[in-house]
Amino acid sequence: MNFKSTFLSFFLILFASFFGISQEVFKNNDLTISKLEKNMWVVETKDNTTMYIIEGTKKAMLIDTGTKCEKLDEVVRQITQKPLYVVITHIHIDHAGNMDFFDNVYFHPADTVLMSRVKPYKGKVHYVKNGDLFDLGGTTIEVLEAPGHTPGSIVLLDRKAGNCYSGDAYGSGQVWMQLRPHVSMATYAQSCREMEALMDKGITKIYCGHYPYVKKAYDKSYITEMRQLAEELSKGTAPEGKPYSSKVSIGTQTPMITTKGNASIVYDPEKIN
Ligand SMILES: [Zn+2]
Ligand SMILES: [Zn+2]
Repeated sequence: MNFKSTFLSFFLILFASFFGISQEVFKNNDLTISKLEKNMWVVETKDNTTMYIIEGTKKAMLIDTGTKCEKLDEVVRQITQKPLYVVITHIHIDHAGNMDFFDNVYFHPADTVLMSRVKPYKGKVHYVKNGDLFDLGGTTIEVLEAPGHTPGSIVLLDRKAGNCYSGDAYGSGQVWMQLRPHVSMATYAQSCREMEALMDKGITKIYCGHYPYVKKAYDKSYITEMRQLAEELSKGTAPEGKPYSSKVSIGTQTPMITTKGNASIVYDPEKIN
């Protein structure tokens, strides 16, 4: 590399970090890894699923395990060599697809019922609950239960950075509530209220479980709209839904979708509460 190109790349990195533009640091046939913040990376797969890597001074965390990602364990090692916690936001194939690359995984027991729909896992499962803390060294990640999309959906909070990693709990524009096993809309509205309250207490950014669709973190206004919509659906006062077509058929064959601002919820009209 000559002086001119060294200078140019230095300038580009400086420019990208100043303006908060993510920097691509790794790419293979399955995925791209970009640095989003200090010690935090987003892993985006070709089929639009998402993982996040967070590194502390002692340990690191992988949030979710994506779909088709050959040798995911080795891929993560390109980013961090620290001992790794692997935490799954919920047991759906696009978030728990490669658990078998890891000897230990963490998820919420209420999603155990969904394990029959993913690849058999022979490693050790550790259950998490509300308030559990993962100390990464200088960074602590906290578990918050957020039932709705699945019974055992969790979000992961990094209060110091102001970040929430939400899996599909608050969706990428739309939340799927039409799937089995069913969770009531009232329960989901309560999850939304808890999330909205946290956004007055230091959480400012929600990084969702399908980042390629949005390419940004959500702010409070999105959660407020989602909370209002869930409350209206549970009370029967939401705007009338439209039929929603989806290839995923675990649940009703006639799902509906209704929208408020940037938030949408897909639901089973026969089974709201
Ligand atoms: Zn999901
Ligand atoms: Zn998903």
